[in-house]
Amino acid sequence: MRPHWSQIHLRPPRSASAPMWTILGRPVTCSGASPLRLAWLAPLSLAPRWSSLRAAHARAPRQRGARRMCRAAGLSGRVFHGVRRRFPEKSTVYLTGVGGPELEGEPCEVVGVQQSRWLVRFLHPRFNGQSALVPEECLNFGYCVRPVAAPGRPGRSVETNDPRTGRGLAAAQKIGQGQIIFEESPFLITTDDVNEVCRAFFMMTAQAPQGDALGTFNALSAGEGFSDEAIARVQEQAVEVLQAAMGEAPAEQLQTLKDVLLRWEANRFVQQRPPNDADDELRELRFAVFAQVSRLNHSCAPSADVGYVFQPFQSGSAVPDDGKSVVRAMRDLDAGEALEINYGPPQLLEWPLARRREFLQAQNGFLCQCRRCRDEANAQRREDP
Ligand SMILES: [Zn+2]
Repeated sequence: MRPHWSQIHLRPPRSASAPMWTILGRPVTCSGASPLRLAWLAPLSLAPRWSSLRAAHARAPRQRGARRMCRAAGLSGRVFHGVRRRFPEKSTVYLTGVGGPELEGEPCEVVGVQQSRWLVRFLHPRFNGQSALVPEECLNFGYCVRPVAAPGRPGRSVETNDPRTGRGLAAAQKIGQGQIIFEESPFLITTDDVNEVCRAFFMMTAQAPQGDALGTFNALSAGEGFSDEAIARVQEQAVEVLQAAMGEAPAEQLQTLKDVLLRWEANRFVQQRPPNDADDELRELRFAVFAQVSRLNHSCAPSADVGYVFQPFQSGSAVPDDGKSVVRAMRDLDAGEALEINYGPPQLLEWPLARRREFLQAQNGFLCQCRRCRDEANAQRREDP
């Protein structure tokens, strides 16, 4: 995407370590020396943020056009590679160590990468859609909402709704072991901070129905199989987010955020970083939510496997399909066979029943009732009535 140069007010940098530009007519400097924070923890302001997001999008018509274009061209998986870090296109990032305390934590949208700097657009309407070039170390990733793209190789999987296992996916045709069933880029990427998850939800709400991230998110399961403990923990998180933002937790907003967080927990995947990546400090734990991959249920005798494909680091480039997921058949599959993956580590498949169930209960919030677990539990009951 070409940057909108008319929106950038750059002055020649004074030195490599102290670049200077103006925002709203004021000179701004970046020390570039601030320590990175994992996430921006300032309180979330619900109603004002909702309305300001709407305003930010209403004032940026070119942004809307660009989104349509990206969707049509299937570019929703584009990721920019900077000096050492990767940010998906349209990521929301937060400024840090730039221009003094009034800009600390200011949310911006990633537009591109330019001569080892990041081109970002301010999201708050008070900036009138202005952009700035920012050194990489002055950005913290928050979340990314992208248009929902149809997964590659459609027709090899179908959605199912089994009364016992709930919604899931099944093979639509015979698929050989090792074959790719489908590939898909996530439509939602966040840090592990629940505040960012709530902000991403408001961004999806502000964008709807464009890109349909909100509709896709709301169509995912909301942790129906979660244990009471897991639901109570999520409830506590939602109360904390609301109290920090509003000083109280009204019932209606509490229910909304609780559903959002349950849905996120039930459908998120850790987006593992590529080994030997330039961004090798692993400082950014990211979670990805997918329209299709997130529908894959767990089994202790899985039929499918999910991996990520990270492209080689190409500093200064926009790299398509970087970090996309690839779902493969682990054995020969017949049409109609459930596509199920292992939510745990690979060695979970070697563990005895009790250990598997204990792990999945603690890590994923549900008592495993997969066919293997039910068969083994029945066999144990027969042996030890
Ligand atoms: Zn199981």
